[in-house]
Amino acid sequence: MTGFVFSEKPIRIERGEGVHLYDANGTEYLDFGASYACTPVGHCHPEVVDAATSRLEELMYVQASYPNDARDALYGALADCAPGDIDYVWLCNSGTEANEAALKFARSATGDRKVVATTRGFHGRTMGALAATWKDKYKKPFEPLAGGVEFVEYGDADAMAEAVDDETAAVILEPLQGEGGINPADPSYLQAVRETSAEHGTAMIMDEIQTGLGRTGHMWASGKHEVVPDVLTTAKGLGSGLPIGATLVKEWVAENAGDHGSTFSGGPVVSAAAGATLDVLQRENVPRHAAEVGDYLMRQVEDRLGDEVRDVRGHGLMIGIEVKRGANRLLRDLAIDHQILALPAGRTVLRLLPPLTIEREHADAVVDALEAIVA
Ligand SMILES: *Cc1c(COP(=O)(O)O)cnc(C)c1O
Repeated sequence: MTGFVFSEKPIRIERGEGVHLYDANGTEYLDFGASYACTPVGHCHPEVVDAATSRLEELMYVQASYPNDARDALYGALADCAPGDIDYVWLCNSGTEANEAALKFARSATGDRKVVATTRGFHGRTMGALAATWKDKYKKPFEPLAGGVEFVEYGDADAMAEAVDDETAAVILEPLQGEGGINPADPSYLQAVRETSAEHGTAMIMDEIQTGLGRTGHMWASGKHEVVPDVLTTAKGLGSGLPIGATLVKEWVAENAGDHGSTFSGGPVVSAAAGATLDVLQRENVPRHAAEVGDYLMRQVEDRLGDEVRDVRGHGLMIGIEVKRGANRLLRDLAIDHQILALPAGRTVLRLLPPLTIEREHADAVVDALEAIVA
């Protein structure tokens, strides 16, 4: 039997600590991808490890219909930190499931069917979330997907107002697109989408799976832009690497959410890991740290590499650098010659999503390496 991975890399990773990963020979890598934003408080944060291991020894699993302290604590912590009056939490195991639930809840609560999504958006790989994802490469081999999805240009408030009507169940979008190339939205656009959705009784779903948990320098990008969606989805870094996702909804959506379920909805171990992650994020004000280091990093890239790159964009520690040559070659050079791991976002954008606990010295190391490569 052999594994079936779609983009395997020639580096074996066996250990992680803080902002570093280590291969089998002990070679240290600076992790500026965090396996797609999965370690907001760093690899193997001791408090997260302790919370998960103590639960692991007590109770590896009990189904969500039996109340449990770790899960209840997480419900409370998520509702407390969610923007505005979003008070209800559905737990699952991944981002795509969080969006799948969001779309189902929106259809059930509104009684409507249509979904409006955006160009270059990414929402996951299951048949419903995939239907709301833009890129044909991800969709074509698997069609037909869930129906009723219309796409409008990301950032165009008029196109959104045109597409949404009284039969629209949901609008789904990212407040800052990740996979689509690190494309920030204007706050006024998000506010306009909020108003359009409210006018038509449509559920606004903000996909914060990549932008949430302090990534953009605020706990949620929705909070940063003062937009309260009806549904907010999160996953990726929530369990510091353990698989967990959450669909956070307002009361009107929760009241008529229909019937939904998952065997592994918020088991005690992943709930404890997520609770500890949220606790560290908030207690240590990690989002503010991310805002400061992110600003510094972005300025350094602009000042020192401004002439060598096409564009630098993003918020906090979600940064895209559009390069003049292919991103993959650059990523290879960063990894092999400088022991820095980062990510692409399409063919020409280098995507930086480090643990939010990086310091300026780590930002400097990345800019030094990029300078050496592109000079
Ligand atoms: C990663 C991602 C998803 C899908 O999450 P999975 O856990 O991989 O299913 C959905 N939306 C956004 C914005 C993402 O970045």
